Amino acid sequence: MPVYIVQSGDTINTIAIRFGISAQDLIAVNQISNPDLLTIGTPLRIPGYEGISGTLKLTVAPLGATLRTISRQYQVDENTIVRLNQLTSPSQIYVGSTLILPEKEQAVDPKPIAILGEGETSLETAARSYSNPWKLVLQNRKESTALFLSGELIFSDAPQQSGGLFGSPLIQNIEITPLPLRQGKTHLIRVLTSTPLNLSGTLNNLPLSFFQEADNQYIAIQGIHAMAQPGLALLTLQAQADDQSSFAFEQPILLEPGYYPQDVPLAVDPATLDPAITQPEDELIRTITKPATPQRYWTEKFRVPVDEPCIRSWFGSRRSYNNSGYKYFHTGVDYGVCANNLNIYAPAPGRVVYVGELTVRGISTIIDHGWGIYSGFWHQSSTKVNVGDFVETGQIIGEIGGTGRATGPHLHWEVWANGVQVEPLDWLEKVYP
Ligand SMILES: [Zn+2]
Repeated sequence: MPVYIVQSGDTINTIAIRFGISAQDLIAVNQISNPDLLTIGTPLRIPGYEGISGTLKLTVAPLGATLRTISRQYQVDENTIVRLNQLTSPSQIYVGSTLILPEKEQAVDPKPIAILGEGETSLETAARSYSNPWKLVLQNRKESTALFLSGELIFSDAPQQSGGLFGSPLIQNIEITPLPLRQGKTHLIRVLTSTPLNLSGTLNNLPLSFFQEADNQYIAIQGIHAMAQPGLALLTLQAQADDQSSFAFEQPILLEPGYYPQDVPLAVDPATLDPAITQPEDELIRTITKPATPQRYWTEKFRVPVDEPCIRSWFGSRRSYNNSGYKYFHTGVDYGVCANNLNIYAPAPGRVVYVGELTVRGISTIIDHGWGIYSGFWHQSSTKVNVGDFVETGQIIGEIGGTGRATGPHLHWEVWANGVQVEPLDWLEKVYP
């Protein structure tokens, strides 16, 4: 009987649902006396999976994954993967989905070595990758060398020579973190290459902005819109080298909802909802926050932009203004007035690119932090900086107020990641990239 190790956040019911068994059976088989006291790290025997043994691990399907590549990489037959994950179709494996897999027992981890070329036989691939063709048959769970298909990934425990998971000598690796994608989150797309490349691409139909982090290492920082349609989002990449050799890639990735709550319906001045006012103002903000400045000005976590961070309203919550229905969302985080001053501080170094008074946002300031990252500060009573100023972390940039569409004095702070508003609190917790 396979064993599952209890993870943080698990309950008897979530484990039973994950494996498609009844909670009663799970409790009985493991002789659990108090199902409400489940300790992280406890091994639980999972009934109903005859023929499968070992410890079951949760793995997030990486870029490039299909049922076949996972079967080969983890040396688990496709049937076992289908049974354990209750898949009804191999196409249910999406990049970013969580899979249950038995832990590998062998010491050597077979690596993807190449994609079988058009008209190429597995013997030629073996020769190209310095592998034994019959060993390839075994490690790829085939019965004959004739069963390899053009375009298939070939796995081997032989040292990797060229090609890699993405089948191009130009590309060493492509990584996207965190997985799955989630509404309102900041995601990183990192590309390791074997030669300097010109990279472009899209995520969920938005153009990516790539910057060089180190030699042959590129990064794009991209927000996922807080109201993006959950389901599958497409990642596309194109690369071109100086010698005109090129690479193209695309793959759908799971996009999960952010589970944002609904705020109580709000009543505001109807003028602040009039499209004749809101649309040009939104367009102005979008235009200002669009350029991805090639220089990165920040190197640390962002600091809280006020002295007493009492949050009055969270990022992402769904909003209804004057009975509009929940078609709006809160684009930043609201800090109330809780300190004995009204200071607003720059959360990170950057260039001031906008200062002005707007109908909806009131007295507003926008700072460009570089690499497509911007901070916006709305509803101020006054501002202490001018367009063109370079500000350092902690520098006073303005005072909290209640100008524009505000129900009381507060600071609305928002962060843009390559044209999309994202959860600002993530930037206080983690150094990006
Ligand atoms: Zn707000």
